[in-house]
Amino acid sequence: MDYQHTQNHEDCNQWGLMGFGKPVRSFVGLIVGFVLLLALTSCQQEIVASAAVVSTVAPTPTTAPTVSPTLPPPPTTLLMDSDAPSAQMPSFAAVDPTQLEAAQAEITAVETAVSEPTSSAPESTATETVTPIPTFTPPALPFTSDEEHYWLKRPIPEGGTVWTNKIYPYGSSKGGTLRPHHGVEFDVNKGTQVIAAASGTVVVAGKDDVIAYGPTTNFYGNLVVIELDTPFEGQPVYNLYAHLSDIYVAEGQHVEAEQLIALSGASGVADGPHLHFEVRLGQNNYDATYNPSLWLYPFPDYGTVAGRVVRGNGSIVEDATVSLDRVDAASRFLAISTYTGDSVNPDAQWNENFVLDDVPMGYYEVTVAVGKKKFKQEIYVFPYRTNFVEIVIED
Ligand SMILES: [Zn+2]
Repeated sequence: MDYQHTQNHEDCNQWGLMGFGKPVRSFVGLIVGFVLLLALTSCQQEIVASAAVVSTVAPTPTTAPTVSPTLPPPPTTLLMDSDAPSAQMPSFAAVDPTQLEAAQAEITAVETAVSEPTSSAPESTATETVTPIPTFTPPALPFTSDEEHYWLKRPIPEGGTVWTNKIYPYGSSKGGTLRPHHGVEFDVNKGTQVIAAASGTVVVAGKDDVIAYGPTTNFYGNLVVIELDTPFEGQPVYNLYAHLSDIYVAEGQHVEAEQLIALSGASGVADGPHLHFEVRLGQNNYDATYNPSLWLYPFPDYGTVAGRVVRGNGSIVEDATVSLDRVDAASRFLAISTYTGDSVNPDAQWNENFVLDDVPMGYYEVTVAVGKKKFKQEIYVFPYRTNFVEIVIED
């Protein structure tokens, strides 16, 4: 993770020491190391737990859904695959080409059964319609529709940690402790193979000690930037892979999707080994990033939830926790936080301020808690689709 500073760990330590007064200070001297160790090792878990608390707050007045109050009948024919996912998520490669027709039929059936989806894409922005794009030919990935740009495979090979970290997603400040995130993390160990998410040409391969590709030099350490073969609406698309330990490609080299390009590491400003991954649009610039979760092809039978949390006056709500609870089957708890600051960019089509990727298809209640009030909306998550939901916060 890209630490602006490391206050969150210190906070965790202080949290673990709270409550010790003078009479027992001598005991503190004896066990402080043990407490520190406990606090450190449980730091991540505490963050997860605090997010989970949001959905289990004591009963409070619930505001009725504000966008689409009526829930369509469930697509009962499609729930056989809706069991809670196993601990390991399915891999990208699990999409079997021989099953494409069946899966496409599934999607069509769902879309027929759900006659009025509760979510809809926002109106296109003015800037989007300025230049008509006559020849838009995205890479062929199964199931995706023209309105999506699921062009990217996972940059980590099958069998590894191929899903994104949900604690520090794109746009998150991790509760105000970190710089707003311009990419996503894949939590892999040092020396994990990093593969190209799409075919393209290497435009950067090396250190960022002279040219800053992040907010400063020496921020991303060893990095690779690949310009994709296919531009998006006339603009070049870049993928950035950061904090690498070893780089196996050179500038100017063409790479194929899933080609080995590097090994993961913790170079630059990183608190530990992981892969930091970005999507940049238009220019290879820190200010030109977009949410990779809207570009990574979903797992089989999984979809993406993009949304916007706004106040009644239309202003954006930053750093809010959005939780998803499955209402038609058991599921693990899902949560994500809304974007913070103005250095990250919403997608031109969706104008979202949060994205949760890899959501199993099915009905969900989407909740945002503000103080003791909870605001809810229900959506059906279609597989291989970006499913949009808007939550309006009434003060
Ligand atoms: Zn990162």
